[in-house]
Amino acid sequence: MQNGPLITTFKALSSIDTSWILWPDAAAITGNAWLLVYAVTILAFFLIGLSIAIKYFPFLLNDFKTISNSNLPDVAIKLWFALVLVLPLFLDAGPVWFTVWWAIILRGYMNRVEKKLIISAMLCIALSGWFTGFGGKLFTYASTHLNTEIFLIEQGLETPDDIQRLQTYVLKNPKDSMASNALAIALIRKGELEQAVSLLYGCISNDPENPVYYNTMGIALAAQQKLKEAAGYFENASNLKNTDLIYYFNLSRAHLEMFNIFEADKYIEKMTELDPRETNRLLSRNTYPMYVFKNTDLQTMFKRQMADSIKGESAAGELWHAGFGVFRPEWALWGGFASLGLFLLAGLIPSDRFTRKCSRCGNTHYVGSTTEKGYPVCLQCSLIETKSKKQHAIIVQHKLMEIKHFGSINQKKTAKLELILPGLGSMLVNRTLRAVILFLVFSFGLLLIITGGVFIHSFVPSAWNYMPYLRALGAMMLVFMYLSVFNYPPIRKGI
Ligand SMILES: [Zn+2]
Repeated sequence: MQNGPLITTFKALSSIDTSWILWPDAAAITGNAWLLVYAVTILAFFLIGLSIAIKYFPFLLNDFKTISNSNLPDVAIKLWFALVLVLPLFLDAGPVWFTVWWAIILRGYMNRVEKKLIISAMLCIALSGWFTGFGGKLFTYASTHLNTEIFLIEQGLETPDDIQRLQTYVLKNPKDSMASNALAIALIRKGELEQAVSLLYGCISNDPENPVYYNTMGIALAAQQKLKEAAGYFENASNLKNTDLIYYFNLSRAHLEMFNIFEADKYIEKMTELDPRETNRLLSRNTYPMYVFKNTDLQTMFKRQMADSIKGESAAGELWHAGFGVFRPEWALWGGFASLGLFLLAGLIPSDRFTRKCSRCGNTHYVGSTTEKGYPVCLQCSLIETKSKKQHAIIVQHKLMEIKHFGSINQKKTAKLELILPGLGSMLVNRTLRAVILFLVFSFGLLLIITGGVFIHSFVPSAWNYMPYLRALGAMMLVFMYLSVFNYPPIRKGI
């Protein structure tokens, strides 16, 4: 974002504001962290779906051939099913629906852990409408509710255009006291005091418990030389919040202007009691303006940016569209539950219709058993484990060879796949948790490298340039992950 004139005044700006971080920076950092989580989740979710599709696609083809007993050429069958799998592409669907679609089609082949994973992902989809609604507001923080103009005025950085926009807005939204207060500050600086005072009367009657408006009113009245009245307003402000130095400071300035040196000193003493360092800082600034405006605190600015707005809503819609597409975000809840329903419904097909691959010897079978953790094993392997070895000595001998053989072939194959897409090899050998962690790390690292962690910018030139560090962090994550994948390929153990 270009903000030429701001750069020169930025130093002064950060020395005025006492908060450790300015709202535009804080809002940008929060928004970026949120968007990164969103992007990582969607990418990892897509990779999980992709690896499931790669894992079970051959089984699907095999079963189709067995059931249909057709004479169709192999290529035609493959093409047909590939087309079925990429169907969401034709519907302009986001990456998430691919995973949902694949999971529903391939449910019969999936093991217990994978099913649980998909179910929790579908529950996340149900909540995604709310999640993107929140993100939309973070995304549009600078362009809604005149937040930017209010911030710039409070920092003394406003342009005539900012004031003009705020004026138009306040006319339409007279109940928005924060906006009126900011406009009043701008008017006080321009010397249009009558108008400022009448705006501030409105603010106080709308929100009589807020000390900020009494403070601004005090400054406006002091500028009109109504010092006694001004002191009264500052006193009101300090009564409403008796820990804020600024109100006592202004109070002492007003008394000083009235030559009540004793009174003025009394408030300085009070300030020193509360915070000697800050008192010193306030007293040492002997420049105009003499009085100090109270800036809106971070928390209140955040609350304001999170209020509903049309822009925020349309940004939320776009965010949702990027990950989901086809539907509107309002349908997220139904979309999530509908896909969950279809997924559970797909479980009604008898399980012996689906090819399973024994996780011990690698033979495919229709009727078999599962391990404790829910991974498939063929009857022979399950027999070996449950029955005594004496009875089946010969089978056992033969079978053990087969298992060993499968283990060594499998290991090479999965190690290679793991290097192409970390997690893919793990998924194929039923190390699902490891696969999910690798997908998450991979997505996180990749997105950090691509985006530098920055999706939105702060509208004030920020002292916080964390992009190169985050890029480096992303690169390091990927390097370490590939190294560890290379050193510890997914071994078929502990299934
Ligand atoms: Zn087996």
